[in-house]
Amino acid sequence: ILAAIGFGIIFGIVLPDYIGYVDWMGELFLRLLKMVVIPMIFCALVSAITGIKEEGKLGILGIKTVLLYFFTTLFAVFTALFFVGIFQPGTGIAIPSDLTADDITSQAKSLRETLLHIFPDNPFAAFANANMLPIVVFAILFGIFLTRSWRQECLSAEKSRQESVNPVETLIQVFEGGNRVFLKMTVFVIMLAPFGVFGIIAENTARFAGDTEMLAQLGRGLGLHCITVVTGLAFHLLITLSVLLWFFGRCNPYRHLLNMSSVILTAFSTDSSNATLPVTLEEVMKKDGVSEKVAGFVLPLGATLNMNGTALYECAVVLFIANAYGIELTLFQQFITVLMVLLTAVGTAGIPMGSIVMIGIILHTVGLPPEGIGLVLAVDRPLDMCRTALNVYSDTCCAAIIAKTEGEKLQI
Ligand code: ASP
Repeated sequence: ILAAIGFGIIFGIVLPDYIGYVDWMGELFLRLLKMVVIPMIFCALVSAITGIKEEGKLGILGIKTVLLYFFTTLFAVFTALFFVGIFQPGTGIAIPSDLTADDITSQAKSLRETLLHIFPDNPFAAFANANMLPIVVFAILFGIFLTRSWRQECLSAEKSRQESVNPVETLIQVFEGGNRVFLKMTVFVIMLAPFGVFGIIAENTARFAGDTEMLAQLGRGLGLHCITVVTGLAFHLLITLSVLLWFFGRCNPYRHLLNMSSVILTAFSTDSSNATLPVTLEEVMKKDGVSEKVAGFVLPLGATLNMNGTALYECAVVLFIANAYGIELTLFQQFITVLMVLLTAVGTAGIPMGSIVMIGIILHTVGLPPEGIGLVLAVDRPLDMCRTALNVYSDTCCAAIIAKTEGEKLQI
């Protein structure tokens, strides 16, 4: 990726007239990302919900975990809003865009209309038009009722014994299978990232090559964007999660942080919460003393559902792009951004650059220029390392808190 960024910048500066030969790579990359995102989010959400179908068995543990995940993610988003407000990354760049402020205002619907349109009258139309919020609502409802049907089928155990194939169970497996396939497809698309990044960076550099003032502003803006994200991540990791650990878990946050050092380092170097999961499970049980029952439920769920770093990052990126294009988001658009970030963070795959797939769709929903994504690609990799570390660390904190509330004796 780093080499692709370097070559992209050199190409854009040296051969701006030949940009037509390479810009298709970026376009193709973005098209492929868009191709996987909708089915992936749908399958990920449905199987995340059906994945907690044993909630009946685990009872209060499942509900506590999901609530804790929701609130930590919400805190992360507010942290992003706070630090973006302080540092204002991207302001003053004013990149020219085909979208005008009027276009955006005319796209904005009234509150009543937007809330109503969150519920799709035709889910297939929502899929076809990539309307994310209705798709998410449909996925959640579908997941809930799939789980309910599954429970009913299980209650009539007699019936399921008679039937060799339980159709509801099969449907659940279809979505789990779909989830795995789309994950593999996303990994494949992301493997092509170096070419895509090369195309996008070359195109952007060629566009601004003559304009050194703009390039300098862009560089400064990106620097500030990195500072904003890293400060936000550090704040959430060191302050917010420590306070939660201490307050709700009565644990020593410092000792927990030390115990989790190898988890954080693994997440940092692999860029992937999924790849870190075996280490996370091992360390949380061995070093903190969390039981297998709690760790085995909370951590795998967290690797998919709980993405504090990703949520913080996605929110910061969207606001950075809005600032960079000189577009002032209305309060309502900010609300939609927060909502979308909360929902897409759940659907983000725990793999390197997983959130890049989601950011495009958030930009589309909020009404910002999707090509803005090209601006942040240059610094995505190092920030991915940092946000993945927070994603995983927050799962471990939640596991410790939940274990404590279940009456377990921990070593922290
Ligand atoms: N790399 C992150 C993870 O695996 C996902 C992301 O791109 O935000 O947790």
